[in-house]
Amino acid sequence: MKKGLLIVVSGPSGVGKGTVLKQVLSNPANRLAYSISMTTRTPREGEVDGVNYYFVTAQRFQQAIENHELLEYAKFVDHYYGTPVAMVETMRNQGTNVLLEIDVQGAKQVMSRCPDALSIFITPPSMDELANRIRNRGSESETVIEKRLDKAKEEMKSSGLYDYVICNQDVNIAARSIEIIIQNHMKR
Ligand code: 5GP
Repeated sequence: MKKGLLIVVSGPSGVGKGTVLKQVLSNPANRLAYSISMTTRTPREGEVDGVNYYFVTAQRFQQAIENHELLEYAKFVDHYYGTPVAMVETMRNQGTNVLLEIDVQGAKQVMSRCPDALSIFITPPSMDELANRIRNRGSESETVIEKRLDKAKEEMKSSGLYDYVICNQDVNIAARSIEIIIQNHMKR
């Protein structure tokens, strides 16, 4: 059986990755599973442990690093985020494509460890639009919003490292573009 693809998607906080990827994940033709990350940040309203993330203590995260349970990990703004390696390998060996929605630092680690990974960067139509989207989400304080915007500007500089760059001007078009990329790579 053909091994599933490893697909890395990054893009600045607030770019709408979640909405675009939800659409891509819901199409069975993409044979795509979402890799649930481990994080030390607290859940936002509506987020569920074991669905959106595994919400863990800093101590448990440290233990995961020491036990080599993570394919990659990074500190993003004030918290740690990492990809549990076990699920990724199991799913890929079953022929399922696995989607990692991770930051640029993590993506760089995956690109160097897994040269066959397919990488996609999602950009906002403009930085003003990104700021509006983060503010409208209303889930972070102004200090955190400013930090996330600074981080976004920095992350945008790395977009050229990715195999594909997609602008999220329109959710349906962005999702469809990602589906075409995945389906083309599945044929290879
Ligand atoms: P948020 O707090 O908004 O859910 O995520 C913040 C950032 O962390 C986003 O850019 C998201 O893609 C990234 N992220 C989520 N999970 C992981 C992970 O497992 N590893 C890395 N390196 N970044 C992650």
